[in-house]
Amino acid sequence: MKLEQGHFVISLDFELYWGVFDVRSIENYKKNLEKVSEVIPRLLQLSDKYNIKLTFASVGFLFASTKKELKHFIPKKKPSYTNVNFSPYRLIDSIGNNETEDPFHYATSLITQIKQNGNHEIASHTFCHYFCNETGQTEAEFEADLLASIDIAKQHGIAIKSIVFPRNQINKNYLKICAKHGILSYRGTEKYWMYNTKDTKQLGEIKHRFFRLLDTYLNISGYNTHEPIMHHGLINIASSRFLRPYSSKLYFLENLKIKRIKKGMTYAANHKQVYHLWWHPHNFGSNTEQNFKALETLFIHYNTLKTTYNFQCKTMKELAEHTTS
Ligand SMILES: [Zn+2]
Repeated sequence: MKLEQGHFVISLDFELYWGVFDVRSIENYKKNLEKVSEVIPRLLQLSDKYNIKLTFASVGFLFASTKKELKHFIPKKKPSYTNVNFSPYRLIDSIGNNETEDPFHYATSLITQIKQNGNHEIASHTFCHYFCNETGQTEAEFEADLLASIDIAKQHGIAIKSIVFPRNQINKNYLKICAKHGILSYRGTEKYWMYNTKDTKQLGEIKHRFFRLLDTYLNISGYNTHEPIMHHGLINIASSRFLRPYSSKLYFLENLKIKRIKKGMTYAANHKQVYHLWWHPHNFGSNTEQNFKALETLFIHYNTLKTTYNFQCKTMKELAEHTTS
């Protein structure tokens, strides 16, 4: 779908421990997770300063004020993964009762802050951080999960209109289920082979990981800018780039990373396409100052492109509505 000007979209996969429970221990990631309560208000403040709109794709569990509320929304059909480690439901008994007791599993106050700010979108990252391409789980289980995420958000006065799939696992059969329940857009993946999330084992392979790392600094996969397209009833606002967090080991490559993103943004602005950048708030939990400094550079670049090319920043919902109107 042709756009009359280029667009900048930013989505954040907001998940706290629910996004990493199958790969990390809390102890091991505590520092990053603890900082999220500082990172979110700072992100809101910086975005407002530069007229940036963010889309927070939030895990449904995080909306719950209490364990009682969380349990109330848990669907009867839970994902029956072959690998039981992928199910977060096995952890429910061990978590605290609310955000004050357990800030790694609840985020009611942060979600309220985002909502009260009013400039940004709260979208879904599924209810339980659901893996759509893992074996064992079914279409009916996905639908039950999606409905739970819509319902708990509704309970907090939020209408879910966009979705970001955990680990970017996109199952095309599930897109029409999302469309059926009022979702307008999703974040697709980059087209290049190392970003393919259909075969979930491949993603973790060393060759794929190495090329994704290299692509952060050097132009291997191109700019990954695009025009939004309708796909099984949803608008695909595909990813252009994961904003890899600052690396103290590879600090000397940081400038290359930022330059590569800026070039992609300029290309999108100049060719009336979309540049979609994404990351997780917990990625800013280490090297926080360096990460915010880099982000501000990108926000300044956006404002330059706005002046030169009328480059626009929209939430996923706003862009989907704009595209279909
Ligand atoms: Zn996630």
